[in-house]
Amino acid sequence: MLIGLDRAKSVEQLTYQKRKPGRCGREEMHGADIAVFTAHRTHAVLDGERDIRRFAWRGDYVRIAYALRRALQIEYQIEEREIEVELIGREENENLLFWEAAEGGIGVWERLIAEPREFRKLALRALEILHFDPSSGQALPDWEERCTAACYDCLLSYSNQPDHRYLDRHKVRDFLFALSRSDIAPTTDGPSYNEQYHRLLGLIDPASSFERSFLEYLYKNGLRLPDHAQHTPADGITVQPDFYYERDGIPGVCIFIDGPQHDETAQAERDHTVRESLKDQGFRVVAIKSGRAIADQVSEHLDIFRPQ
Ligand SMILES: [Zn+2]
Repeated sequence: MLIGLDRAKSVEQLTYQKRKPGRCGREEMHGADIAVFTAHRTHAVLDGERDIRRFAWRGDYVRIAYALRRALQIEYQIEEREIEVELIGREENENLLFWEAAEGGIGVWERLIAEPREFRKLALRALEILHFDPSSGQALPDWEERCTAACYDCLLSYSNQPDHRYLDRHKVRDFLFALSRSDIAPTTDGPSYNEQYHRLLGLIDPASSFERSFLEYLYKNGLRLPDHAQHTPADGITVQPDFYYERDGIPGVCIFIDGPQHDETAQAERDHTVRESLKDQGFRVVAIKSGRAIADQVSEHLDIFRPQ
């Protein structure tokens, strides 16, 4: 199950940041090109964008991850090793990925997704574990001295020692309190405009800043985003247009983002051959060239890139 704390997250494909031992034997987060797919997606819709933005750095996510994991353990009476959690994605694509490590699963996600109130219960349980009054969010005076930041009764465990420096129960209280009063929305419908944008960003060639610029231009101007990236539209033609738009009942539109290397003679000939083959099969082909302003080229095809 993927928990997005931001409504604009890509939730279908993210780069998984795999933990590897770093210097001093500590685990550190390293980027690794592993795509993560999840069947259950959940967005916590909190009050106001500012509430969400406050949780936009790693320490916050780490605290939230361990608070929710501990609450899952207690609420559903499962062992620590049966639930795993990872911080995945980068920058604005950061999400928490929870998964059941027990073989065969333990059915927790199905219950959480089926009954949104379960999520609020989970947040209340986390507040209680972190020595707060779940109904008011207020600190319990008895615990203020006994547990100034975190203790082995709340956030600390032997398995999360590398992250102990981040763990402070007071810093996660506001989030949990907001979550205990939030609406939870499984994202089972088609992706939103924002989600589609972030999904496409995750699919493009990271080496091509031109592809990114093109997508950003469409997004910032509210223009229709491609349906696919790196998609093979035709059997028998071994080409993946950079972007692809579907059209009702007929072959779609293939968008090629041509960097400077496409001006070289041999490459230009190969491009021509393959694109003519696509046209022969009824596809429309549009090449966006690096030598001209993206705005000018997009404006020539507004029937495709029409505003949303
Ligand atoms: Zn404590």
